[in-house]
Amino acid sequence: MHNLSPVYDITPFSLLDYPRYPSAIIWFAGCNMQCQYCYNPEIVFSKGKKSIEETLNFLKCRQGLLEGVVLSGGEATEYHGLQEFCKSIKALGYKIKLDTNGINTKVIKDLLEANLVDFIALDYKAPRSKFYTITKNRKFEHFQNTLDLLLTSNSDFEVRTTLHTDLLDVDDINLIIDDLAQREYAGTYYIQEFKTGVKTIDDLPKPLMGFATDKLSKALHVSVRQT
Ligand code: SF4
Repeated sequence: MHNLSPVYDITPFSLLDYPRYPSAIIWFAGCNMQCQYCYNPEIVFSKGKKSIEETLNFLKCRQGLLEGVVLSGGEATEYHGLQEFCKSIKALGYKIKLDTNGINTKVIKDLLEANLVDFIALDYKAPRSKFYTITKNRKFEHFQNTLDLLLTSNSDFEVRTTLHTDLLDVDDINLIIDDLAQREYAGTYYIQEFKTGVKTIDDLPKPLMGFATDKLSKALHVSVRQT
């Protein structure tokens, strides 16, 4: 049965999350990870407050004012009614961007096959050796399957990593870059700097370690951005 109130909250307007499209962000409650650096613990551990109906009513009111909807969280693909929800959003004329950790490959595959997502931001959380420590999820292979799915399906997507330098060092990031290059990822790889001064799941302090960007692998185009 579907969660009756799967949405934690709605950000009514953002110009940053879905480049080129003024968007609303739908924050789905709950997640299949518990990343040490996650700065949305209240969303991850929440059961949600808003129904799909309320959320769609909001989107109906914004038709003509917004162009995109970002499905974020938490992990949106954990919501069992996501495909139906995306159909309803599409019927309102919006573009859809999905932010995902890539564990639910089948959900993403079904969305792509039904042409229900226009852009995917895929988190590459960590190389295999640190994946469980950082995310508390053992399904690194599922993430890899999603990455391969996106690489072979002509999808519009980006790969990104949140960097807390006490958790990941330049060698870890280079493992990620080299893996992506080997799989022939041709896009930009984004490193998102950890946001300091916010509450995180593991209550992480400000990173102490520096990060030598000059030691990054040149195998891909890399861009560092703030979250
Ligand atoms: S950072 Fe990790 S725990 Fe937090 S919402 Fe994203 S995937 Fe879930």
